[in-house]
Amino acid sequence: MRLHALTIDLEEWYHAELVRDKVPPAERMDQAPAALQPILALLKAHGVQATFFIVGEVAERHPELMREIAAAGHEIACHGYSHRPLWELTPMEFSAELVQFRRLMDDILGDAADVIGFRAPTFSLEARTAWALDVLAEHGYRYDSSIFPMRTPLYGVPAAPLAPYRISASAVDQDDAQGRLVEFPMTVCELGSRRVPVSGGTYLRLFPWPLFTWCWERVSRTRPAVLYVHPWETYAGTPRLPMPPHLALATYGNTAGALGRLRRLLERFRFAPMRVVLAHAGWLEG
Ligand SMILES: [Zn+2]
Repeated sequence: MRLHALTIDLEEWYHAELVRDKVPPAERMDQAPAALQPILALLKAHGVQATFFIVGEVAERHPELMREIAAAGHEIACHGYSHRPLWELTPMEFSAELVQFRRLMDDILGDAADVIGFRAPTFSLEARTAWALDVLAEHGYRYDSSIFPMRTPLYGVPAAPLAPYRISASAVDQDDAQGRLVEFPMTVCELGSRRVPVSGGTYLRLFPWPLFTWCWERVSRTRPAVLYVHPWETYAGTPRLPMPPHLALATYGNTAGALGRLRRLLERFRFAPMRVVLAHAGWLEG
């Protein structure tokens, strides 16, 4: 049975793209530790380990949570320090975030913090932010999982490959044997000429379930898929900010059903941390 990558984007509810500019610091009540517990329990019950793409600010405020995640055998990876998208950072600022992240994780976890994977906040790796790939390679990263291979209102690289590939540092939608990083793009299912997003988040919560699982079965026959979940989108206590109905639906729709859907995928497919999936398929050594 094919191995798929399970990834948890560990950020606070106030880091979400449509929320982050609207929450003043005084109202930033942390919920990630509480929101994560049901997910950790579910993974433990199913004997599944995942990759945790962690925001540095969350790790800084909750070092005990990092130790709990690492002790359970999950992979620690980086989701930026501040959760600002790449298109809001200069290469110097991004480099500083990576240094800050590594120092913090070394302090908290020592040798256990063997970080080689990165996911850009808001899937912000695209043509204009391709500079980030060289920065990642210089900081010892070996894989990236930030490409969303279709156009969406907020992000997307519509011509990118669908399976993992060696990403060119000059054209992010090109496979390049000399590329320094492996890219694991978000999973989309091809229906005729259309690409349908089935990688997690909003799509996991809102898609008709039979269509979602049919797409997963179909993708699973040819390549490893990736699923991403945010703790805040599975948690009843997540504060809901006022926003237009279609954005509210995308951000908060069916949060009550998200954990159940994750559980059903865990029952039906085989999951592992991303570095394990990439190594298993020959993309990474060791
Ligand atoms: Zn994020």
